[in-house]
Amino acid sequence: MDLNAVPTHRTAITAPAARWAWLLDGPTRGRAATIHAEGCQLATDHAHPLNTTVALEVLARPGTAACPGCDAAETLLPILHHGQNGDGWEETD
Ligand SMILES: [Zn+2]
Repeated sequence: MDLNAVPTHRTAITAPAARWAWLLDGPTRGRAATIHAEGCQLATDHAHPLNTTVALEVLARPGTAACPGCDAAETLLPILHHGQNGDGWEETD
């Protein structure tokens, strides 16, 4: 009995979205919290990094916007709209 001989199945979970990094800019006076793609020039120094899962969660909250000036809106909004809820067809625009 050699335990080392037991094959270990390390299934690498590769979510395609995992390679993206995002920045969350907190709400400022009169402005909603904003998600940016990492490196966006519109992000402030106060923005803090998020992974994609968290970015989507934050973005799903009312009062959080995706920056239209970088990849955030283009990349995250379609994912969000395609539904974390199973069927993604409730939102039409
Ligand atoms: Zn941005």
